[in-house]
Amino acid sequence: MIIKPKIRGFICTNAHPAGCAHGVKEQIDYVQTHGELKIKPKNVLVIGCSTGYGLASRITAAFGAGAKTLGICFEKEPTEKKTATAGWYNTAAFHQQASQAGLYCKTINGDAFSHAIKQQTIETIQQDLGKIDLIIYSLASPRRTDPDTGDTYISTLKPVGQTYQTKTYDTSKNIVHEVTLDPALDDEINQTIKVMGGEDWELWLKALKEADVLAENCITTAYTYIGKELTWPIYGHATIGKAKEDLDRAAAQLNQDYADLKLKAYVTSLKAVVTQASSAIPVMPLYISLMYKVMKQEACHEGVIEQIYGLFTNNLLNSNPSLDEVSRIRMDGVETNDDIQAKIKAAWLKVNTDNMAQLGDYAGYHEDFLKLFGFGHAQVDYEQDIDPQVTWA
Ligand code: NAD
Repeated sequence: MIIKPKIRGFICTNAHPAGCAHGVKEQIDYVQTHGELKIKPKNVLVIGCSTGYGLASRITAAFGAGAKTLGICFEKEPTEKKTATAGWYNTAAFHQQASQAGLYCKTINGDAFSHAIKQQTIETIQQDLGKIDLIIYSLASPRRTDPDTGDTYISTLKPVGQTYQTKTYDTSKNIVHEVTLDPALDDEINQTIKVMGGEDWELWLKALKEADVLAENCITTAYTYIGKELTWPIYGHATIGKAKEDLDRAAAQLNQDYADLKLKAYVTSLKAVVTQASSAIPVMPLYISLMYKVMKQEACHEGVIEQIYGLFTNNLLNSNPSLDEVSRIRMDGVETNDDIQAKIKAAWLKVNTDNMAQLGDYAGYHEDFLKLFGFGHAQVDYEQDIDPQVTWA
């Protein structure tokens, strides 16, 4: 099959196996070039391991520390006519490259919110690993079915409290235009907290503790985005921000509940990057394009692997990581500093369809977007016939 990108709005509906493998290899190379972690987790569970920040976490743990990794993801396998999702191909490539390097890895593909997948994970840990010393919680999902009630909740990306009028960039029409976003109803806020808040993170830790597979001094982190004034109305102070506040509550609760194990639970705030999750959020493609331009000009641009390698090297695994006033680890300090934000804001006030190419780095945004699905790598021959039937079993 010759595989070319099929883009529909903010998503690409297919993926390229060789391109995804190349992307995984680039992240592995980054970690190997930057050197081994000083503090090395041994057995790492990554919930949401196949793309974005979770994949970078798995790669850093495996190739930076030689850790055994067990990953959980929700990806579609290939059929005769359709490619798999990018996360499927990323996982296949990770497995191939980890086994070549002699590293243990297993991946469970299914709904992380369900009891069944938690149970399967526990059985795998008991059989293969004994105990887990690091748990990365990196899920981004539009819906969650509560495993006890069977009720399904949908997350919403809306402002809270008042209507918000702002600029946005329509990536399919290449135009900057005004958009009015209506505030969320209380039920929409509550449903978003059910999907993206801390409840499932807590359920994971509870199940792992009850099965006695958590090592003493175990560390866990869930990822958040805090941002600044430009993104607060649609992120930090919006429905998704309310869900992320619930992660702070959950982290405090986990630290209290598992003090006997000396477990440490942190929320880590990461910078905005192009991932499948962030490209679905209104305003983010425009914000990220302007932010890329500024941060590249200031030579402080970072992607997922730079952020996560930095997190693992400088903070998360230390006995006393530096924390903000709400006990969160902050990896977003460069993006959110006043100078960078002032430059992004100046561009934001001026940007329109005509000057978008000068003020923003949409080309860089789009390149990263294509790479999420394995497209746009200069080293990959996209004219070549390729078998989409790739697996990792
Ligand atoms: P992503 O879309 O790249 O990855 C999501 C992962 O979750 C994938 O591995 C997917 O398979 C998995 N997943 C989704 N639903 C699942 C389910 N029901 N069961 C099992 N696995 C499931 O997302 P991302 O952008 O890397 O986001 C990961 C975390 O990082 C999120 O909490 C997000 O809020 C946070 N974060 C993202 C950004 C950003 O700019 N992208 C910035 C800061 C923090």
